[in-house]
Amino acid sequence: MKNEIVLNNGLKMPMLGFGVFQIPDFDDCKQAVLTALKQGYRLIDTAAAYGNERAVGAAIRESGIMRSEIFVTTKLWIQDAGYEQTRLVIQDSLDRLGLEYIDLYLVHQPLGDIYGSWRAMEAAYHDGKLKSLGVANFENDRLQDLMMHNEVKPVVDQIELHPFYQQPQRVQWLLDNDIVPEAWGPFAEGKKGVFSNPVINEIATAHGKTNGQVILKWFNQRNIVVIPKSVHKARIIENAQISDFKLTQDEMQRMADLDEGNSLFGSIHDPEAVKQLGNFKFKY
Ligand code: NAP
Repeated sequence: MKNEIVLNNGLKMPMLGFGVFQIPDFDDCKQAVLTALKQGYRLIDTAAAYGNERAVGAAIRESGIMRSEIFVTTKLWIQDAGYEQTRLVIQDSLDRLGLEYIDLYLVHQPLGDIYGSWRAMEAAYHDGKLKSLGVANFENDRLQDLMMHNEVKPVVDQIELHPFYQQPQRVQWLLDNDIVPEAWGPFAEGKKGVFSNPVINEIATAHGKTNGQVILKWFNQRNIVVIPKSVHKARIIENAQISDFKLTQDEMQRMADLDEGNSLFGSIHDPEAVKQLGNFKFKY
């Protein structure tokens, strides 16, 4: 089992992390992150737009684990795109997290003045406030453009990936360009009966594992970082127990065959979706 991956800037990133999307309540989020840290997760994925950076920071402090042992990702939302605003909100995220640096800072969506944002992120990178820079939801062409016209190369593209939407060419391009693919929604947020899918279940039964564990292992064996979310202790534990088995080539192929080729969460190429995302604004 590969536990860490080396990013293109030399930093090491855990291959299995813990996501905190849709855990808005402070106590719930803090408890979930504390449980995850106790169970050995060392990557926490939050975002300004999730409204729970304070809870993540509180859990990190309460865990007693050394800061250097934990890899923290947060993200810049569209409302804060542009050079000046990004400079301000990087500090705001640091303050809410109560941290002196962020391990990975992502442009959350490829929308708004992302070039201004990237330059502000580069400045914070050179100041040591951000240890690495990345993006989320960027198509390969947008990522190529971003790389060509800026100095610091993104280390990660965090994109929708699960058994029903696998985007193999997109993932291969990232791997070929030394950018780590990171799967969001690895369980398709439970859609399409993923936890009882018969193909995954047959593979899971053969290894004495659950569908969730097979999915996470299938990502790990392809060098894709994964950040499942759960608020339930038993599931947080279950999702971390994937080091004691290996999927065969045939099983990997059967997982690949589940791809249906369509996003389950909407397309960034749909003007209505772009409008909805651009209109989503939050107060800290
Ligand atoms: P997900 O991890 O695919 O699915 C989470 C759902 O699965 C929750 O309903 C959870 O329920 C359930 N679950 C988790 N483990 C389970 C298990 N072992 N058995 C049965 N059910 C289980 O969805 P996600 O939260 O959207 O994605 C993961 C992370 O990716 C997020 O938390 C966030 O950090 C990141 N993300 C990023 C973006 C982006 O645009 N960059 C978008 C979406 C998500 P319970 O919580 O009730 O256990």
